[in-house]
Parts: sequence; structure tokens; C-alpha cells
Amino acid sequence: RKTADDVVGILCLLSVAAALDFKYHHTEELEAYLKGVHAAYPSLTHLHSIGRSVEGRDLWVLALGRFPTHHKIGIPEFKYVANMHGDETVGREILLHLIDFLVTSYRRDPVITRLLNNTRIHIMPTMNPDGFEATKVPDCYYTRGRYNKNGEDLNRNFPDAFENNNASIQPETQAVMNWIKNETFVLSANLHGGALVASYTFDNVTGSLKGYSRSPDDDVFIHLAKTYSFNHASMYKGMGCDRQTFPEGITNGYSWYQLEGGMQDYNYVWGQCFEITLELSCCKYPPADQLEKFWRDNKAALIEYIKQVHLGVKGQVTDRNGNPIPNVIVEAKGRPHVCPYRTNEHGEYFLLLLPGTYVINATVPGFKSMLKTVEIPDNTGNFSALKQDFSFSEVSIRSRAASCPKTPLYQDLELASAATKPTLHILVLMTVMLVAFK
Ligand SMILES: [Zn+2]
Repeated sequence: RKTADDVVGILCLLSVAAALDFKYHHTEELEAYLKGVHAAYPSLTHLHSIGRSVEGRDLWVLALGRFPTHHKIGIPEFKYVANMHGDETVGREILLHLIDFLVTSYRRDPVITRLLNNTRIHIMPTMNPDGFEATKVPDCYYTRGRYNKNGEDLNRNFPDAFENNNASIQPETQAVMNWIKNETFVLSANLHGGALVASYTFDNVTGSLKGYSRSPDDDVFIHLAKTYSFNHASMYKGMGCDRQTFPEGITNGYSWYQLEGGMQDYNYVWGQCFEITLELSCCKYPPADQLEKFWRDNKAALIEYIKQVHLGVKGQVTDRNGNPIPNVIVEAKGRPHVCPYRTNEHGEYFLLLLPGTYVINATVPGFKSMLKTVEIPDNTGNFSALKQDFSFSEVSIRSRAASCPKTPLYQDLELASAATKPTLHILVLMTVMLVAFK
């Protein structure tokens, strides 16, 4: 029979075993930590590698949630990716502490419990393990470890919506692209260092627009970026680093500086996933004794940001017999995506929208549209977006497979409006857009 003292003793032992040091975890320690967490919380976590780096290191992802191994209808998928620049190291370590906090708070903290019961959270502490290992000495500034083993900048390595990206796609990039294709991600952030700001899409632009590259969901992105900056210990003050200042701690990516082949634009255009870029430390690779402060400064922001995956509206599109219809275009009127957002294999859609009134258009391309007006409340505290299903009255509707070429879509649109003789490809794209948004 256990006495109270025994129980306290066991609890202390458990917490010592699970305690995570504030230090840098190199490849073997990182793998050991993730495997240890999975062993300690097998029903709450799912550890898998989505591919390998150039030097053959696993690209580990820990998925957390009540159903960690697979997607459940209605439960949105969220991700954090860190250390894609190998010399930007704070994100890599604070994501390990986030994992520790989530697993140890489940069934103890009611908010974290509800969050994990209603969200599947994917955490990738390092997208560039080779670059991290190549950075031998902690250093505040730009080093060779930024790049992967082939010398490529992974945040310039994705297909670009505005211009042709000639960089050859690296194994790390391809692994992330496949992962994005295979999961219905709704919201994401990628973690960097060298500045203190939350930056949002677009990073690139067509032509020579000055100042700001606005996406159709600019209001949502500003909200997402501010959610992070205002829940961070100091980012919202906008002091940045050195002489940089960022009002309210946020910036449009292009307003800060233009870049091609970035991951956040790729997520938004091709992945149907809203992603922002978080710059978390002025020093890219700070001494390990500062890691505890970085974790404290970011903890609330990391959690509040995940909750935003429950913004807006979600639902399923089915036929008369209740069978899900994949590849149905579902978009909010007035905010068309250049590559229209479509339902997944379960007929599901997720649209991140701020509270307000919207007309949602569900279109089976070339066949039929259905409109519904929705009143979206502030629902993030309920851990569920507004639910709005669509049921078509026909039997067995088939929708064309989703196709969105990995070519510069915005450039095509601009050319189409100027060209006297549009190519077949542009005609197909314009037809899809017209069907969707007439
Ligand atoms: Zn970076």
C-alpha cells in the first residue's frame, strides 16, 4: 500500500526523469529526447521522420494530440518548424520545451488538455540538422551553417508563386513539400533568429510594387502576427534589433525585404496553410544560459498562436448520400486564392477568417456552386471553428482532381490580363477562377 510520501517521491522521480535541460541538444540528444517523450507518452504522441537531410540525418516530427497518429475529421492540423537555417538555434530548443510543457500539462491544465483534445500539433525542431551540426561555435551572426550541406538556403528553395525559382529542390525541402501535401495543415509558423518580429506573407511580388505585398487574407495575417507579438514578452514593443524597428512587432514580409522561394508563401499558395515567420532572437545562436529566458519570453505566445487554428469556419462537403466530395473549391467571397482552396479526401475544408459575416462558396468545378452566409463568432476559446457543412442534392458527384501547377501563378495572371493570346494553361486557370468566383 502506497503512502502519501511514496506517491510524492514517485512524482518527484518522474519529474526529474522528464526534466529537460536548458542547453543545446545535438542530433543524438535531440533524437534521444524525442524518443523518450514518445516512450513516456505513447498515446499522446507520434514520432516519425518525414525524410532525411543531405548527410542522412532524420527530419523528426513529433505529432501531439488525442489522436496523434492520424487525421480526425474536424480536428485541424497545426505545425511549428524550426532551425531551417542551421545557425538560428533558439527555435530548435524552445520547441523541445514546448513539447515538454504540452505533454506534462495534458490532463493537468484544462486549457492545454482541451487544446490537445481538439488540435493535432506537429512539431519539427529542426529542418536543417546538417547546418546546425556544421555551426561549431555559438555565434550571433550569419554563418555557413545557415545553408544545408549542398550550400542551399532552404528558405529560398521552394516553388515561388511570383517568379521562376531556379534553385534545385533539396531533400529537406522536398520532405517538407511532401509532408504539406499529405496533411491538411491549416496554420503554421517557422522559427528563425537574427531579428525580433513576426513577419507574414507575401515575401515576394510581381513586378516592382513598392512597399507592401498584400495577400487576400491580409487582415487574418495581421491578426496572427499580432497574436504572437502581443503574447511575447517584448516583441510587441517593436524595438527589433540594432536600428531596426517594427511597429507592434510585426511586418509584411515583402515590406521588410523581398525574397524568392520562401516557405511561408509556399504554404499559403500551394499548401492551403497560413504560415508566418517568427524571428525570435537578435543573436542567431546565443549562449545556452539564455535559453531559459527565451523559453519564458515565448511560452505564452507559442500557445496562443496554436489556438488561432480554430479561427473561422470549417466543415464537410457531401453528396445526397452523405459521401464526402474531395476537390470541391471552398472559398470566402471576396478573398479568392490564386490556387483555389479545395476539400481534402474527407470532403473537409478549413478557412481561417476573423469574426464577421461572410459568404462561403462551395463549387464543384465545372458543375455547380452553393453559397452560404455565415456569421463567424470569436471561437478560438471554444477550440473549434464555426461548423458549416455543404450537402449537394445529387448522388455521386465526382470532382476533378486538384491541379495547381508549381509555376509562378501570379505572374501567369498578370500576363493573362496583358496578353492578346493567352496560353491554354492560363485559359484553364482563368476558367477555374471564373467558375469559382463569378
Ligand atoms: Zn532564418
